[in-house]
Amino acid sequence: MSDLTIELTAPNGRKYSQPRGLFINNEFVASKSGETLSTVNPSDEKEICTVYAAGPEDVDIAVAAARKAFKDPTWRDMDSTQRGDLMFKFASLIDEHKETLATIETWDNGKPYQIALNHDVAGVVDCIKYYAGYANKIHGQVINTNPTKLAYVVREPVGVCGQIIPWNFPLAMAAWKIGPAICTGNTIVIKAAEQTPLSILYLATLIEKAGFPPGVINIINGYGRTAGAALAQHLDVDKIAFTGSTATGKEIMKMAAINMKNITLETGGKSPNIVFDDCDLDQAVKWSHIGIMYNQGQVCTATSRILVQEGIYDKFIELFKEQVAKASVVGDPFKDNTFQGPQVTKAQFDRVLSYIDAGKSAGANLVAGGEAFKDVGGKGFFIAPTIFTGVKDDMKIYREEVFGPFVVISSFKTEEEAIRRANDTTYGLGAALFTENIAKAHRVARLIESGMVWINSSNDSDTRVPFGGVKQSGIGRECGEAGLEAYTNKKAIHVNLGTKL
Ligand code: NAD
Repeated sequence: MSDLTIELTAPNGRKYSQPRGLFINNEFVASKSGETLSTVNPSDEKEICTVYAAGPEDVDIAVAAARKAFKDPTWRDMDSTQRGDLMFKFASLIDEHKETLATIETWDNGKPYQIALNHDVAGVVDCIKYYAGYANKIHGQVINTNPTKLAYVVREPVGVCGQIIPWNFPLAMAAWKIGPAICTGNTIVIKAAEQTPLSILYLATLIEKAGFPPGVINIINGYGRTAGAALAQHLDVDKIAFTGSTATGKEIMKMAAINMKNITLETGGKSPNIVFDDCDLDQAVKWSHIGIMYNQGQVCTATSRILVQEGIYDKFIELFKEQVAKASVVGDPFKDNTFQGPQVTKAQFDRVLSYIDAGKSAGANLVAGGEAFKDVGGKGFFIAPTIFTGVKDDMKIYREEVFGPFVVISSFKTEEEAIRRANDTTYGLGAALFTENIAKAHRVARLIESGMVWINSSNDSDTRVPFGGVKQSGIGRECGEAGLEAYTNKKAIHVNLGTKL
């Protein structure tokens, strides 16, 4: 057998063939340099396997394949219903392989298997189906002008799209990028995060099976500074879509300027969660827990700053602490009752611990967690769910994105103060608010500077609804009809029906 596939047995006993190559032109190939990267199981710190890592020369090959496919009439002129059919077939195949995909996701990323299966992979199927349905509904426009002119607008694909995704939702982030790009007729080169390369390579095996022509969807692994940067700077890439940290997003913007690429960015957040004293407290506590602790706290929209109105502050903390103790079951992600697995890598584990130290040294009040969680066989990147209260607005732990099971709570007096402090951040991704007063809920929602607001819930994302941020949380939207905007250009055509010079 070639070294492009390896037979693996996952910790849950599932045996499967793991591709290791770069997926270009519907084939797995080695990187030109032979360079590989290693991926580690965050639950036991052991290497799972290595995969080929793309360098700039491999990016050139992948981009050339995507360009060729983009120009090829097989794809360019494909009937839009047929394009949708390919996507529906792809979604069905993902559904058929969902247990293997969820297994790989859990093994490589550390997220609980039940969540990987029922949220991540189920969400991927949903997303691909949703955009498959759009393939034959991309409409242009006729604009009324005068009798001697026909003016119409056609929506055309942007071209070759470079897509760079993070490690927190490897398959879901791939789907959010593949879905809108493909239904609108683009071709893509997608680079997975070096921390979680495996599930997307398995997904690649389903692309040819679904019937996509070679070069339409190319998938590469590789490091950000080599493969990612080569893609962002490539002169033959028309668009770059990125999800990841704000710092990297800014670098991508600079690199994309080289040929003025169309860009969309989904970056970081420090999303507020305002709990008013007239809320349903039991529900506020449960949603606030999900809002920060879901996915090991590794969610860009995590509502990581809880602001509680002073009259219910003590009660909220008592109930929230109880909820975390009860619901945040930390442990082996393959166990059915596990809510929280390990952080994705040693680097992320160390990062969260460093914020715990920062909170302690700043004099914030640690009421839960505050250390590594060691009861999972002494191995793995597990963190005890951590709550700091009495946190001041100028503390590092209040201002910076931690990306872990780590929350800061402080109190406020008035609605005006809550809004002002919620907006006192360079970020603007999500915001939750809890109140039973409908007028107040909508009033506050309008005044919050963010791309998304949840009233009486948190982190409730939906393929059909636009997702994205304002301020330094991003540019553009993914999901919903809005997600199509970034993947089409509007071409205006003026037809002279009789104007003579
Ligand atoms: P990152 O932004 O560095 O990586 C995200 C993706 O960008 C990866 O595919 C990476 O390979 C690529 N990349 C990195 N540097 C690049 C470059 N110079 N040019 C092109 N591509 C590049 O994120 P990270 O280092 O994995 O995580 C660091 C922090 O980012 C986290 O602690 C968290 O705060 C944040 N983060 C946010 C999200 C999100 O969804 N908003 C996701 C992951 C991480």
